[in-house]
Amino acid sequence: MRYVVGIDLGGTNIVAGTVAEDGSDVVGLVSEPTLPEQGADAVVARIVKLARASMTQGGGRKISGVGIGSPGPLNTETGVVLLTPNLGWTNMPLRDRVVGELGLPATLDNDANCAIFGEWWRGAARGAEYVVGLTIGTGIGGGIVLGGHIYHGASDIAGEIGHMTIDSTGRRCKCGNYGCLEAYASGPAIAARAVEGISAGVETALPQYVDGDLSRITAQVVYEAAHDGDLYALEMVRETAKLLGAGVANILNIFNPEVVVICGGVTLAGDKLFAPLQSEVKRRAFKPAWEACRIVPGALPGTAGVYGAAAVFMQRTWGAC
Ligand SMILES: [Zn+2]
Repeated sequence: MRYVVGIDLGGTNIVAGTVAEDGSDVVGLVSEPTLPEQGADAVVARIVKLARASMTQGGGRKISGVGIGSPGPLNTETGVVLLTPNLGWTNMPLRDRVVGELGLPATLDNDANCAIFGEWWRGAARGAEYVVGLTIGTGIGGGIVLGGHIYHGASDIAGEIGHMTIDSTGRRCKCGNYGCLEAYASGPAIAARAVEGISAGVETALPQYVDGDLSRITAQVVYEAAHDGDLYALEMVRETAKLLGAGVANILNIFNPEVVVICGGVTLAGDKLFAPLQSEVKRRAFKPAWEACRIVPGALPGTAGVYGAAAVFMQRTWGAC
């Protein structure tokens, strides 16, 4: 059995794991904070350290290479990360830096593409022909897997679902545009919308969850208050579901997928989010598209990106995963 190290590089954490070529197992799962403010060299050193730690914990398995998932935009052919606001990188030859340090071949792909590819390979979208997925956290990433391959488009930008415009004159997004889905339904955007309502004087127990310090309100706090029955928090979750539902309905009408997989912290909201999301998609999408599609939470929380990054290496190197 051959093994590949999968690296999931995020703005907050780096996760590495050693994945068997049949996907049956991930061993030596290790993680550390990314600490991007320490600079690119420190982050590369941390990636290399975690890859080595994973291989050591994996215990003498034959390692064929390394698959890296990174925030983009990036170039999958040259292995260069073009620009990442979260990490502060421009034209960073990440793949070749890792190859140089580890002496193993490597591949580079977008982190959200890797997460959705992982869900297709081993998770909630396993075996499906047409898959579109969202990763909802600090931002909203997306991935499209068609016929068992990531769809990259003409220049590796395909799948930026978080930057779909849902309100052309709406909220400002970190990408510079207005009204992107991410500006409404990412974790920080959910928190910001909740705080705006509190500042405007709505009735809610939310401030009590953070000892009155509104800067500590996160999407998780909103979900927690919603679970406790706070009406305003419930309304925030419902509103988020409707906005996501509009985005997912667009996806259904454009791609007619079998599965839409939704990954990330937002899935903690459970049925309070998924039920209104489903009904919004049903209301907006064409009926045959709705009838053909399952909308499901990711099945590999924390490891989808590692599985997917390793699978990208396998598919590009061996032709299959
Ligand atoms: Zn945007």
